[in-house]
Amino acid sequence: MPNTAVVEKNAYDSAMENFDLAADALELDENVRNMIKYPERVLTVVLPVRMDNGKIQCFQGFRVQHSTARGPAKGGIRYHPNVTVDEVKALATWMTWKCAVVNIPFGGGKGGVTCNPKQMSQVEIERLTRRYASAILPLIGPDQDIPAPDVYTNSQVMAWIMDTYSMTKGYPIPGVVTGKPIALGGSLGRNEATGRGVFNTLESACEHLGIPMKGAKVVVQGFGNAGSIAAHLLDSNQAYVIGVSDSKGCIYNRDGIDIPKLMLHKEKTGSVVGFPASESITPEQLLSLECDILVPAALENVIHGENAPSIHAKIIAEAANGPLTPEADRILEAKGVFIIPDILCNAGGVTVSYFEWVQDEQHLFWEAQDVYNRLERVMKTSFNDVLKIHLVRKVGMRTAANMLGISRVAEATTLRGLYP
Ligand code: NAD
Repeated sequence: MPNTAVVEKNAYDSAMENFDLAADALELDENVRNMIKYPERVLTVVLPVRMDNGKIQCFQGFRVQHSTARGPAKGGIRYHPNVTVDEVKALATWMTWKCAVVNIPFGGGKGGVTCNPKQMSQVEIERLTRRYASAILPLIGPDQDIPAPDVYTNSQVMAWIMDTYSMTKGYPIPGVVTGKPIALGGSLGRNEATGRGVFNTLESACEHLGIPMKGAKVVVQGFGNAGSIAAHLLDSNQAYVIGVSDSKGCIYNRDGIDIPKLMLHKEKTGSVVGFPASESITPEQLLSLECDILVPAALENVIHGENAPSIHAKIIAEAANGPLTPEADRILEAKGVFIIPDILCNAGGVTVSYFEWVQDEQHLFWEAQDVYNRLERVMKTSFNDVLKIHLVRKVGMRTAANMLGISRVAEATTLRGLYP
């Protein structure tokens, strides 16, 4: 299996390093800095699950609440063999700054289970999910901590969590999770929200840089929820998606890949590999393709010190969380690559999650176009807020986004007077 993830730095160390850079630039008070930097709660759970062969297998799971200063913790649940507590802590930390960047009233959380759902049956995944939901039950709730889907979890997994939680209360509580099926109180537009938000920030970036989207060459690493929707919207707006990859391989067509057909191919075969009218390339070749826009939409740390020098993109839109290591950041910034940082670029998902939670709380549901319009407003306003800091303070876009998020969390913390 191709794997471009050479982990040169643990994701949590990267999150802490990025925090320090932004906190230094903000000249943040030492007391506030220490109060907002570290996760508030870290829960580790062991999940015994009866497998289809009758044996009991124990999985390890985590739920981390990094911050509740601005509202309930909010963040997805990841099922993946490489999930570690440090990865979940890093992802929870990014959620705190992300919710603050788009100015929604949530803190940051994240969850994960170390497992390989690709080798499990649906029934095994359901048993694991219900066990995990029970184990993290004391932490979650519509006013406490609201999970959502992340890598290899989906709306069905959210439905099982909502059901498990609701069973303990005796009545349905849709607001405990977002990313639910529409029939259970999900929001129209949630499924495509992350990809749509990536697209909205790319529109703003192209306008700022004077790069026409029409005819722009695009490479997308990871063709799941975030990557495929972003690719689809770029393709519909006359950009050329010339390279695409997933965990099984990478494909290339210099004249542009037909994205709607590729989506059907992936649905049928489970992978982008073998798509007609494309040639197979290596993950290294994919990342180094000459292009206007590179969208890493898979996992973290995939662009690092070793492969960053060979990147030839003008814009990197971080659909994934933490795809660049701090070293890659420095190399690419020095090369003049415009980076739309993850906590801004992929914030469309959590923004529509917030809309879903609001709709659940109000029992009043919005039309899809209403969701898209509100999302576009939030994404473009946030992009401009970050861009202003980038231009005025002469810092990279990532530091600018972190400065915006961290300053809002610092302000909330100071106003609440949480001092010892
Ligand atoms: P997903 O499971 O739908 O898709 C992940 C994709 O990445 C799959 O196509 C998989 O095959 C591919 N992949 C895995 N390893 C790879 C590798 N080594 N090389 C190339 N491709 C690889 O997940 P998703 O929801 O699209 O999430 C992708 C990223 O976006 C994650 O970092 C996630 O945290 C982030 N994100 C997702 C959302 C959301 O709402 N879905 C929101 C914010 C951030």
